Amino acid sequence: MNTQTVIVRSPATLEKIAELPVSQAADVRAAVARGREAQNLWQRTSFTERAKVLYRLRDLLLDEGDKLGDILTAETGRPRAEVFGAELFYLCDAIGSWAKKSVDYLRPEKIRPHFPLMKFKKVVSTYSPRGVIGIISPWNFPLTMTLGEAIPALMAGNAVVVKPSELTPLSAVFGSAIAVRAGFPENLFQVVVGYGETGEALVDCADMIAFTGSVETGRRVVRRAAERLIPVSLELGGKDPMIVLKDADLDRAAGACVWGALMNSGQICTSIERVYVEAPVYQEFTDKVGAKVRAIRQGPSENEVDIGSMTSEEQLKKVAAQVDQAVAKGARALTGGRRNPNLPGFYYEPTVLLDVNQSMEVMMEETFGPVIPIMKVSDAEEALRLANDSRYGLSGSIFSRNGAHAFRLAEKLQSGSVCINDSLVTFIVPDAPMGGTKESGFGYRHGAEGIRKFCQQKTIVIDRFGLKEEFPWYPTTSKKAAQLRHLLNLLCRSGWRNKFRAFKGLAKG
Ligand code: NAD
Repeated sequence: MNTQTVIVRSPATLEKIAELPVSQAADVRAAVARGREAQNLWQRTSFTERAKVLYRLRDLLLDEGDKLGDILTAETGRPRAEVFGAELFYLCDAIGSWAKKSVDYLRPEKIRPHFPLMKFKKVVSTYSPRGVIGIISPWNFPLTMTLGEAIPALMAGNAVVVKPSELTPLSAVFGSAIAVRAGFPENLFQVVVGYGETGEALVDCADMIAFTGSVETGRRVVRRAAERLIPVSLELGGKDPMIVLKDADLDRAAGACVWGALMNSGQICTSIERVYVEAPVYQEFTDKVGAKVRAIRQGPSENEVDIGSMTSEEQLKKVAAQVDQAVAKGARALTGGRRNPNLPGFYYEPTVLLDVNQSMEVMMEETFGPVIPIMKVSDAEEALRLANDSRYGLSGSIFSRNGAHAFRLAEKLQSGSVCINDSLVTFIVPDAPMGGTKESGFGYRHGAEGIRKFCQQKTIVIDRFGLKEEFPWYPTTSKKAAQLRHLLNLLCRSGWRNKFRAFKGLAKG
């Protein structure tokens, strides 16, 4: 592989659309050093000033909708409607949310100490920026995962250096140019382009890493960051289950399933990747899903289509291998089940697989592609057991007309978020924390946790009375030790009689 440049190809046509120089380790160090200087001034700005820049950024993103549409469809192969419906819709809302709420999320908090003697002190917890945040991103949402991820870090007063995926760097590069036009200071938000080595160089010099990507790379990033003991947040893969109970609205469930599994050709961390359906409604549900999937139009973004190409050839091969393995083990493709032979790019046909079981990779490993494996289960308990039988725990969805039952199941599902009677929407609530459990990662994006992770939380304890000396200070005497013991008994021992005894001891001196 040529490691001097990154060649960006359209996954829909396979044509070369750009070639960018790779940022070497020295370039990354220089970017972080420039970021540090810019951050020095930026951290002194108020939330109001930062919010103003964000609102200008939002307007510019909307002004540049056509250009962004061109770039995003070219480098991802997705239909244009998804660029607006997914990336820009989300980003514009997220910008509004961070612009309004960051000041509350990061307001110094007054803490009321539990220990009675500490009540004489004032205790405050504050949030200060960490410095330069390194963001390492995947290719599935090239603007959301770069510019979108940077916004809370910038609002918290940090500088950001983003390493976008080598497959889709153009949106991030365009995003950084827009950020400067919006009024972010030069070098506050920078992009370094390259492969894994560029990401490693960023881990070697940033003050924190926010990583989104695969479990395997996430592990490597954590190992490397451990050498420097810098904080890392990890948003990794998922194998999100959908549970359809026999009392579900099957039309809604089927529609949500097809959209939730096929949007962005299934290349979403929170895509529906396996479906467990209670036996009495299995046939009707699969009929409905099959009909909807057969009606999906697939093709290049300039046509009127529902889904485009996949973005990565490597992922397409992985998806094809999983489907082939499942079929070899007895699964049946109700529709699809192969690479689309009529289109030149990375198109995998939208696929519904039946007769699947948990011995198949397609039910156990992440499938970053347009595949819906559906399994019949005898009851909700079996559905829950199979759903939790996974090394991942990102998101999931439950369909039932019994809200209370669905909520109880949602609480038992081992995942960072759950939709009830819906799919995919957990990601688009920038006001609520979203993260993974098990191998889906740790740390949160969104909500208070999603901005506080970019801050150093600091506790400041302030003396109120200015006494010349405090009781525990030197000199240490045996009398003081006895008094301290009485005091401890008075404050902490249970039972009034014991407390009274301690009080008497203390009064005696
Ligand atoms: P990936 O792990 O292959 O790459 C992610 C990024 O890491 C890329 O920019 C890559 O260049 C970089 N990288 C590679 N090796 C590195 C190293 N040694 N050190 C530092 N950086 C390195 O993932 P991908 O294929 O780009 O993305 C798909 C994955 O992302 C899927 O597993 C998907 O579920 C996950 N994802 C998760 C979320 C979430 O919120 N949990 C969101 C989107 C995508």
